[in-house]
Amino acid sequence: IETTIFYMDMRTHGKGFERYMNNATSSGVRLIRSRIHTIDRTDNDNLLVKYVDDKGEAQKEIFDLVVLSVGLRPSAEATELAARIGLKINTDGYIQTKQNSEVQTSKPGIYACGGITSPEDIKGSITQASAVVSEIMSFLKPSPFTKGSRYPSLKAVDTAPRILVAYHACNGMDPEVGQKVKKAASNMSGVVQVVQLGEDLLGDLRKKLRETKANRVVFACCSPELHKALVEEALRSSGLNPYLYETVDLRVVGGKNKGSQLQDRVQAGVAKATFLTPPPLREVEVFKQALVVGGGLAGMQSALSIAKSGYNVILVEKTERLGGHCNHVKTNWRGENTQEQLEKLIRTVDRNRKIKVLLNAEVKRNVGSPGHFSTTIKQADKEIEVLHGVTVLATGANPTKTTEYLYGKHRNVFTWAELSQKLLDDPSFFKNSKVGVFIQCVGSREPDRPYCSNFCCTFAVRTAIDLMEMNPEMQIYILYRDIRTFGLRESLYRQARENGVVFIKYETSSKPLVTAENGIDSLKVTATDHILNRPITIEPDFISLQTAIAPDGSAQIAEIFGVDLDEDGFFAESPEKLKPVESTRPGVFLAGLAHYPKDTGDSLTQANAAAAKAVEILRKDTIEIGGRVAEVRPEKCAVCCTCVRTCPFHIPYIDHDKGAAYIDPGLCQGCGMCVAECPGKAITMVTCSDEMLNDAPAFLLGIS
Ligand code: SF4
Ligand code: SF4
Repeated sequence: IETTIFYMDMRTHGKGFERYMNNATSSGVRLIRSRIHTIDRTDNDNLLVKYVDDKGEAQKEIFDLVVLSVGLRPSAEATELAARIGLKINTDGYIQTKQNSEVQTSKPGIYACGGITSPEDIKGSITQASAVVSEIMSFLKPSPFTKGSRYPSLKAVDTAPRILVAYHACNGMDPEVGQKVKKAASNMSGVVQVVQLGEDLLGDLRKKLRETKANRVVFACCSPELHKALVEEALRSSGLNPYLYETVDLRVVGGKNKGSQLQDRVQAGVAKATFLTPPPLREVEVFKQALVVGGGLAGMQSALSIAKSGYNVILVEKTERLGGHCNHVKTNWRGENTQEQLEKLIRTVDRNRKIKVLLNAEVKRNVGSPGHFSTTIKQADKEIEVLHGVTVLATGANPTKTTEYLYGKHRNVFTWAELSQKLLDDPSFFKNSKVGVFIQCVGSREPDRPYCSNFCCTFAVRTAIDLMEMNPEMQIYILYRDIRTFGLRESLYRQARENGVVFIKYETSSKPLVTAENGIDSLKVTATDHILNRPITIEPDFISLQTAIAPDGSAQIAEIFGVDLDEDGFFAESPEKLKPVESTRPGVFLAGLAHYPKDTGDSLTQANAAAAKAVEILRKDTIEIGGRVAEVRPEKCAVCCTCVRTCPFHIPYIDHDKGAAYIDPGLCQGCGMCVAECPGKAITMVTCSDEMLNDAPAFLLGIS
């Protein structure tokens, strides 16, 4: 299939999205910057697309299929409900949120998240949802957030399996799916009941376990991975080993033989559940203290949210002052005063008795597992040992310098961070300037840094508006590749154009040329006007270069905490789906620029989300480790290091005292890759032994 994307601005601004776009184009997807004005049906039932390309030329092409990427808006019912309960709605029709929290509505105690606050992707919505939990935790005490639930002691597992087959049918599923699951499982040996679960999965499952006295579960639904935690919670809170279950993915059933596929999958689930052996569980004490590394906006907000939930926090900052990059930012994208907000946050953190701030301090070593970490911190010439249950990494990132565009050679060529600082220190400079130029994507979206720095388009447009308000005589030019004022920030782009800011597009093949008389006097910028297709010359008083934001010391921190970096050197998210604030190591959470460049509002939201996840662990007195984890049989290990190289979470290591590989049950994610790869079959998955894999098919075939 030949695919073409017609676009106006390519807004691949989030973590990993620019790389995704580059992969698409290198796989042959055509991108055409254009404006489509008409789509006609042709005589042979194809579609004729008529558009104007970026040179202003009229073009037409024929396609078999056209997909319209339509805009998003909140549902009328949701907006109406919001208005009825007295929430402020912004001019785009979304719920208005507050300056210091992108999830707090205009009414105290009412929070909003997801598509009702702005157009959000899945990860953004999940992050906002966790941030809401954090906000609620800060005042809803003592339950349910301060104390972890207590589980009954584990019942001895009956040798005779009693299997509860539970399914959940989502909207849009085959209406007969329930009947089919029942038909497949009802008469199988060991099955005590086949039940449909309602929307309260946890409550329904617990009730059914109680009623049927089942000791194993087969859970069938369209996204079993997402619901595993609920099934485990239901089993554990019913006094059963939480790993005595199998899942059946109903989403993958399809095509011609979907009836028999469903039957096979359900019956295989029952067969495997029959031969499950309960894995041993071990309890470790949870140290009810958090370590937050990085005292910028995100680090401080995470620390404060955790402290407000009642837990002690050690906040480590490597410089002599809290605030990080926010110290140089005048306003946020909405034009609100960032410095006031920052000062208030620093004061609140300083006064909070539960937060201990260590300035001029650096992390040196870390060991342990979720709930049970020990970290060595160096401050001046002393080393401090800290025991903590969770870690939040908020170590920030730095604006890069450049050798392009006379940077470092001419006094009036600034990076965006320097311009921001100058706005705070010397506003009169801008009151006396007549022309300003902003050059976008300096060092971002280039082969060395093939990612978008995410917030610099919004920064340039916001600053242009502010400068023109400060000095209405000033003319501002923004030289860009794509304008990425995403979501609600689009209104700034509109406002800037209405205010007279001139936007000039450039290609990397013909970047703007910056010169200066005698190298240090009057600046001159030459660019090609993409509409007139001829060179234009601007004589600015100053130039702001929107240089890339790059990770700062992340490699060292990643090494110490055993977390992964992504291809761009930022902290990688957990490879498990939909865990946007979790690192690749359990119990270690991510916030702020160290995860990916973002503006202050998104940093605060992510910081609150990380705090909510951290408190999930801190509120428990003990943590059970073990379960679906891999275990090395030392006598069989040949110390070939295959598992060390294979594990995506970097868990196995060679224990030289034992002369064999070791897998920490508190850290193993149970993906099974090392089990499959170990050439000596020295690793087993406790719940999924080779014996079980042999016995289950025999059971299905009726062979004893
Ligand atoms: S892959 Fe197997 S044999 Fe090799 S080190 Fe790991 S456990 Fe030992
Ligand atoms: S099961 Fe997966 S997470 Fe656990 S040690 Fe093996 S490869 Fe790593």
